[in-house]
Amino acid sequence: MKRIYLDYAATTPIHSEVVKAMLPYFTEAFGNPSSIHSYGQEAKGSIEEARVKVADLIGARSEELVFTSGGTEADNFAIKGIAFANESKGNHIITSSVEHHAVIETCQFLERRGFRVTYLPVDEYGLVDLDDVKKAITDKTTLISVMHASNEMGTIEPIAEIGRIAKEAEIYFHTDAVQTVGHIPVDVNKLGVDLLSMSAHKLYGPKGVGALYIRKGTKLTPFIHGGEQERRRRASTENVPGIVGFGKAAELAQHEMGEEVKRLTYLRDQLIKGLLERIDHTRLNGHPLKRLPNNINISADFVEGESMLLNLDLEGICASTGSACSSSSLEASHVLLALGLSHEQAHGSLRFSLGKWTTEEEIERVLDVLPRVVAKLRAMSPLLKSHR
Ligand SMILES: *Cc1c(COP(=O)(O)O)cnc(C)c1O
Repeated sequence: MKRIYLDYAATTPIHSEVVKAMLPYFTEAFGNPSSIHSYGQEAKGSIEEARVKVADLIGARSEELVFTSGGTEADNFAIKGIAFANESKGNHIITSSVEHHAVIETCQFLERRGFRVTYLPVDEYGLVDLDDVKKAITDKTTLISVMHASNEMGTIEPIAEIGRIAKEAEIYFHTDAVQTVGHIPVDVNKLGVDLLSMSAHKLYGPKGVGALYIRKGTKLTPFIHGGEQERRRRASTENVPGIVGFGKAAELAQHEMGEEVKRLTYLRDQLIKGLLERIDHTRLNGHPLKRLPNNINISADFVEGESMLLNLDLEGICASTGSACSSSSLEASHVLLALGLSHEQAHGSLRFSLGKWTTEEEIERVLDVLPRVVAKLRAMSPLLKSHR
């Protein structure tokens, strides 16, 4: 059976051109970038070329980027780095209640260390309210961290507007842009962010490499101590093949983004419209328009997301119930609960995330299979019987 992959928000396959660009750095160009000799210089040069490509993708200067082991490390580095470097000024952080675990858990860690964190609520579409941001600011606030777009329900937050508020209040502003970089236009100056997290494996690059954008003049406490790599901001011998792959993926994304946004938005809306029409008692989670071009998150009453997922998988369709991180736990998604969904509704949710190799035929197949799956599950559902 031909499998259909609709979980691009969890990870993407590596583009063949990215693999091709990486290969020499596993073999003949294996040097340590810190070495003085020609092997070292070759590796160093390739890292700096990649840095320019990734910086170009987000309108930054290359020296403002630090390569990390992924999006999670970038989030940890940004939040702990600013919190610790500014402890003498204050101990208050503002974030949202729909962040990725990499941000939420980092904030909770800091709370256990005596920091104070405000978790902003969101409206029914998942949007943070600008007045709430303003009201949450105190003279002890050192950082605001709000994600650019949700990996789970796809909503795109008003980052540029929050950026203006942060700038006026002279507070550092971080955004987790792992789901947007390479997918929709991202410009650090237009967004007004001081720090921005990225991850290569969400844009057809390799796993285990990401980057943190750090606006010039922003002081962070280093997260990994050791050698002098990355201008003393992140020790450890660089992941040269990974970084080269990230650079290539960034370059490809820049060329292909415009067309991809149009193509995916069309497929996304076909799928949303089709599912809402063909399955009753179904709703779209997240904002209908301020939404990632590749994200569909729906809740169906009287069925478990897990059951739908397993049945889809039997038909060769690979989707998700939310974030990959929570799909192995039985807790309802904190993101869907923050939208105001009940536990039952949150448990009955399904996320499809589309990508470069998604076709119209695949969307039609989902529209054919899922209504049957839901009908079958509902026929056996105790949830539905008790409702009647
Ligand atoms: C995937 C993801 C991360 C984590 O990135 P890794 O590179 O897997 O550590 C962080 N934030 C968001 C929004 C993500 O989608």
